[in-house]
Amino acid sequence: MDRLKGKVALITGGGSGMGRATCVLFAREGARVTVVDRVAGAGQETVRQIRDDGGEASFVEADVSDAADVEHMVAATVEGYGRIDVLFNNAGIEGPSVKLLEYGEDDWGRVIAVNLTAVYRAMRAAIPPMIEQGGGVILSTASVAGLVGLARSSAYSAAKAGVIGLTRTVALEYGPQNIRANCICPGFISTPMLDRVRGDRPESALHRHAPLRRVGQAEDVAYAALYLASDEASYVTGVPFMVDGGYVAG
Ligand code: NAP
Repeated sequence: MDRLKGKVALITGGGSGMGRATCVLFAREGARVTVVDRVAGAGQETVRQIRDDGGEASFVEADVSDAADVEHMVAATVEGYGRIDVLFNNAGIEGPSVKLLEYGEDDWGRVIAVNLTAVYRAMRAAIPPMIEQGGGVILSTASVAGLVGLARSSAYSAAKAGVIGLTRTVALEYGPQNIRANCICPGFISTPMLDRVRGDRPESALHRHAPLRRVGQAEDVAYAALYLASDEASYVTGVPFMVDGGYVAG
């Protein structure tokens, strides 16, 4: 308990999957949480769960592919809570499952906008108030697909590799201002996104991808995010942190 006491966290994609699990865990550990999602009902449900649990949270509706929305979600957090200690860029989309020659430019642009450009914009919005307050933590959800290729997911894999590069660069550039930047690289995690991606295949069909022989749970990622967001990780920056059951070890 209280591993994030006194901290303010903004989490995108907070209405579902890993984002919701992280919002709930962060609030339980004492953070005040801005839950961001593009669908109000889903995000408000996360806020309701946090409040029922005795935590503090508010919802901001934002499409992270919209520059003004990204500015607004950070500004609303600083206005509402007086600071922003943790920015967690977690929202993402999978895009179509097709090979490169079938991958149209509209789909390519959309996946890069949501999964990569949004992270760049949110970092640019959050770093100035973090510098002003003496530091902060930036987390982003990349993927094992940013470390190894993922067939039929060219834009997704490129965007997630981009998030890893952006994270390392920001860690170099703003470490001297006491800003840590890390990203999480999940393997297959049981969420609505994975349900869409696996289609008719049972979840067990994915077990062979991990030496631990199971898919991960959203909470597995939330606990990694908790560590990286907390002061326990105060000397950890520029890291792609794998939560993949050993997928990339091979
Ligand atoms: P999820 O259950 O689909 O949750 C993603 C959330 O992000 C949803 O609430 C979604 O809203 C929201 N979102 C999507 N586009 C948005 C936008 N433009 N603006 C604001 N919110 C937006 O998926 P998840 O599995 O928890 O994914 C979380 C992150 O993990 C993503 O970055 C994903 O790429 C990454 N990841 C997932 C896996 C996996 O196996 N699940 C593995 C590696 C990495 P809607 O529901 O309305 O779309």
